[in-house]
Amino acid sequence: MAEQKELTPISALGEFGLIERITKEARCQNLSTKLGVGDDAAILDFSDHETLISSDMLVEGVHFDLSYMPLKHLGYKSVVVSISDIVAMNGTPSQIIVSIGASARTSVEALDELYSGINDACKHYQVDLVGGDTVSSRSGLVISMMAIGYVEKGKSVKRSGAKANDLICVTGDLGAAYMGLQILIREKEVFKVNPNSQPDLSTYEYIIQRQLKPETPVNMLKIFENIGVPTSMIDISDGLSSELIHLCKASKTGCVIYEEQLPIDHTTVDFGMEIQIDGTIAAMNGGEDYELLFTMPLDMYDTIKRYPEIRVIGHMTDEQKGCQLIGKDGTLVQIEAQGYSHS
Ligand code: ADP
Ligand code: MG
Repeated sequence: MAEQKELTPISALGEFGLIERITKEARCQNLSTKLGVGDDAAILDFSDHETLISSDMLVEGVHFDLSYMPLKHLGYKSVVVSISDIVAMNGTPSQIIVSIGASARTSVEALDELYSGINDACKHYQVDLVGGDTVSSRSGLVISMMAIGYVEKGKSVKRSGAKANDLICVTGDLGAAYMGLQILIREKEVFKVNPNSQPDLSTYEYIIQRQLKPETPVNMLKIFENIGVPTSMIDISDGLSSELIHLCKASKTGCVIYEEQLPIDHTTVDFGMEIQIDGTIAAMNGGEDYELLFTMPLDMYDTIKRYPEIRVIGHMTDEQKGCQLIGKDGTLVQIEAQGYSHS
């Protein structure tokens, strides 16, 4: 390593000093937070709304690689991954609880960075950090994130409500986060061989950003309030194929989607050509897009068309038809549980 900065071991602060340091920025922005960090438990009050709770765990070496994932981005992304599940129920995320398993290699400065990303995301999404736990880990860094949110009674959207003929819709674009990861992996290999290389990644800034700093489309909550709630919904964390299968299984439907309707950014397609991975494959199987996949009644078509945020990619069918993708050339491919392949 070229330069070695002086890093503080966690033991220098002790558990309480550390907790004080990493939670000092935590501000309560929501009326539903009656008591945040500092006591034995947080107190929340959602009055007549229903409460949504979800949990995600991120493990070093399994879910993230610190050699190309800056800790600040990791903190931000962990919050997004977690609140995305609340948004996918048509809920407004309002609190998070963050538990950390820190290894002997984790410094105080590293946790400062991680929490600066967590705090940025909290500010951006108006979510309160109301608690957590801090323990030591024998392996790598472990982040467990619980998200809490609320939804008006009767307005939550499950995976199971879709009917045959419902329109299948997605937000944003797909496959970019996967391609961004491929760039970061490639650059890590290049760096290993030549640490002085200064790659020009500006052409691919968009897809790298989609991998390192994803966002969840909270703006859709307002749109659903205006046009009505979807019949079913899920967030796209594992790739479109597997999420479509989840919706169809839960709703007991089949589906048809059209390759030419898939929203794929041109940068995703361009980089895909460089590494010979089709943009459609990345969109279907890539994952980590954190966009929303949802269904709407067919008679909503004209309304939906007015929203550039929403792309109609197909429709639900009877269960017996299974999940199908109609290719650009008209060929019909069965979407499999593992995903989709061209062969
Ligand atoms: P306890 O012993 O009751 O579990 P702790 O000493 O672990 O309490 O935590 C003290 C307070 O700090 C609690 O409000 C807890 O929720 C909060 N806290 C602990 N660790 C974290 C963390 N990593 N991030 C945010 N809040 C934390
Ligand atoms: Mg504790």
